[in-house]
Amino acid sequence: MKRFVYADNAATTPVSPAVLEAMLPCYKENYGNPSSLYGVGQAAKKTVDAARKAVADALGAFPEEIYFTSGGSESDNWAIKGTAHLMAQKGKKHIITSKFEHHAVLHTTAALEKEGFEVTYLDVHHDGLVRPEELEAALREDTALVTIMYANNEIGTIQPISEIGAICKKHGVLFHTDAVQAVGNVPIDVKKQGIDMLSLSAHKLHGPKGVGVLYLRKGIPIPNLIEGGAQERGRRAGTENVAGIAGLGVAIREACSSIEERAARLTAMRDRLIAGALKIDRSRLNGDPVKRLPGNVNLSFEGIEGESLLLMLDMNGICASSGSACTSGSLDPSHVLLSIGLPHAVAHGSLRLSFSDQNSEEDVDYLLEVLPSIVDRLRAMSPLWEDIIKGKTVY
Ligand SMILES: *Cc1c(COP(=O)(O)O)cnc(C)c1O
Repeated sequence: MKRFVYADNAATTPVSPAVLEAMLPCYKENYGNPSSLYGVGQAAKKTVDAARKAVADALGAFPEEIYFTSGGSESDNWAIKGTAHLMAQKGKKHIITSKFEHHAVLHTTAALEKEGFEVTYLDVHHDGLVRPEELEAALREDTALVTIMYANNEIGTIQPISEIGAICKKHGVLFHTDAVQAVGNVPIDVKKQGIDMLSLSAHKLHGPKGVGVLYLRKGIPIPNLIEGGAQERGRRAGTENVAGIAGLGVAIREACSSIEERAARLTAMRDRLIAGALKIDRSRLNGDPVKRLPGNVNLSFEGIEGESLLLMLDMNGICASSGSACTSGSLDPSHVLLSIGLPHAVAHGSLRLSFSDQNSEEDVDYLLEVLPSIVDRLRAMSPLWEDIIKGKTVY
């Protein structure tokens, strides 16, 4: 029987009921401007303060180190451009990142290269993991910043962040991490892990779209992002997105209060789906099987075109993704899959299924029921498939 299965939680998540409940009063009775002195204004200010505390608690940070932004992309841009411009004043114009960062990072470092910064893109190897010793070897006298994502949005691999943080600390280099996919899925403690800056986004953890955070350790004087009012300690001006911030506060508290149980349940679902899907002929799992997000499954099927697979899944009520949502408008396979050494043809036949706590074991049953027959049908229609199984087409 046909079901509706939302398995694209790495693209975005539905807002949770508690989050929506926390947001609605901000549009109704609690509509004040947090900068106003009277009652409704001060009520809104309290809401923002409570959310700031919730985020700080979730990360092991101080509330005054939390800056609300419009999302993960803005936080990445601010951290990276801000640090680059700050350190350039000291003659440091080298940045280290990895080949498979989100475009919010890669397009930012590309923009900085045009300004004259030099960028080293670390290899992520076949398992989708950066090697800390390679990072250490890449550090230079003029290195301004290391920015390595916590967990990858396509293949879900979790980087050795504590080791990277320790190396950066030892060499006195600032360390930023895009933790958009990790927050709420992996326990994070910015102080223990040596993280100087961290980006997160509400809509990836059952919060609303258009709100995020930059954690900026005290004493890092990166330039202000938006000049204007005194909001966010004068560093990112503009009347606060009170409802969004309220939603983010509740979402992060919900997500971080039950990381362990949720991770255990999702990991079991993930591994059952992987084991079942790998029974399909000429299939492979992309990214390390263990050091990966609890809800992330990324598979490749030889002889299949990812877009056709997505259309067939959609006809069966399944929402998934191939490559990254941001690149699916182009014919180039995902830079993430190429970075781990997949040939173009195999990268084209990839499928990402990402779960959240709103998914169930029945969803896994349904996926395992539908997926093999769709792959069979697409292969039967493919002019390449005969050649592939006869070994004439080499991947
Ligand atoms: C979604 C995502 C972003 C962008 O966040 P937005 O809030 O949508 O701007 C950045 N980095 C990663 C790893 C993501 O998954």
